[in-house]
Amino acid sequence: VSEQLYLGLDFGTSGARFALIDKGGTIHAQGKRDYPLYKRKETVDWVHSWKQTLFLLLEDVPFHLRQIIASISIDGTSATTMIIDSTTGEPLWRPFLYNESCPDALPIVKSIAPENHTVCSGSSTLCKLVSWWNTVDSNKESAALLHQADWLLWLLHGNLGVTDYNNALKSYSQLLPSVKAPGTPIGILKEDIRTQYGFAKDCIVCTGTTDSIAAFLAARATKPGKAVTSLGSTLAIKLLSTGRVDDARYGVYSHRLDDKWLVGGASNTGGAVLRQIFTDEQLENLSEQINPMKTSPLDYYPLPTVGERFPMADPEMAPRLHPRPESDVEYLHGILESIARIEAKAYSLLKDLGATQVEEVFTAGGGAKNEKWTKIRERVLGLPVSRALQTEAAYGAALLALKGAQQCAQ
Ligand code: ADP
Repeated sequence: VSEQLYLGLDFGTSGARFALIDKGGTIHAQGKRDYPLYKRKETVDWVHSWKQTLFLLLEDVPFHLRQIIASISIDGTSATTMIIDSTTGEPLWRPFLYNESCPDALPIVKSIAPENHTVCSGSSTLCKLVSWWNTVDSNKESAALLHQADWLLWLLHGNLGVTDYNNALKSYSQLLPSVKAPGTPIGILKEDIRTQYGFAKDCIVCTGTTDSIAAFLAARATKPGKAVTSLGSTLAIKLLSTGRVDDARYGVYSHRLDDKWLVGGASNTGGAVLRQIFTDEQLENLSEQINPMKTSPLDYYPLPTVGERFPMADPEMAPRLHPRPESDVEYLHGILESIARIEAKAYSLLKDLGATQVEEVFTAGGGAKNEKWTKIRERVLGLPVSRALQTEAAYGAALLALKGAQQCAQ
């Protein structure tokens, strides 16, 4: 191989992955590592674990390919926050994880942030920062904030104080690093790492993004009107739009992506309900017998528990899965079609809120492999629906590395 390659690393909730691609998007190598569990006293030492995983993944990259890697980027979990020493980069505190909530900070945050801004949620980066600020007495002067991806990237390039605007959406402060577009070159891979692992001399390190944005980027839905529906445990939609849309009532907000906006919302319906009723094997067998061209008369609202956020905000909404017909094929058909109607409603709500009209839907997650469901969705949505070719966040991070390298070449 003589051409250049681009390395993306994804630090997700349960483990980390890498993907190595060429400029055409073909994967040359990929791999996964679970986080090793280090405990200090009773708490997990995440910093040690992430750092170790980063260097294990670099070692997993085939040695003969390391020399032709032009650039590297990393995505991390959204709102995973680290308070570090602004001169040494060493963490001053244990990291605040993406799903941790700091409700104690909410009154202060609400008093300074714009109304209904995403930072007004207990798990936002800003709430974590304020909560930390109010807890400690010393070391505040030398403290700086970085997101998980920023810190891991810092280990590679050594320039402290840089982030990207997707990671930065949920914070807002003086301690903030400088904010750049995802996939912006920051620096050259540190010499000690380069020589130890055998990477190329001019390998650059670029800003990253959050894990869910990276997963969207992987699908390569690059034009306004292109969308990705994730059919995992829940149903999440993300639509590329020319305009920005925010509505806290539905949990809808927009991430900037260059000159466009990535508008998203998530419903509580999805695969979790299917799993409550059928095994994955039953899902496969029953689906095969469905005629997707036929409209199911059954009108359900499949939810795993009480409460819905989007496209209808109703914390009291009860699951509706009755009447159950004799035939399991008909039952599943009714459920899949009802979820498709919720998906259609979700896209139409985004349009009503001002987003670009959806034109094509790519699908990710466990439900993406169900071809009958895809056909049902095409009919109900009135749109072309297909399975996304790539869905790994690491692939999206590799595309950011490619973007950064192309910027450097210009
Ligand atoms: P998670 O959000 O938990 O990461 P996954 O993307 O792994 O979810 O998808 C798992 C979901 O996929 C399960 O909830 C399951 O109901 C659903 N699923 C698995 N097989 C099928 C199938 N053949 N048809 C529809 N849904 C399926």
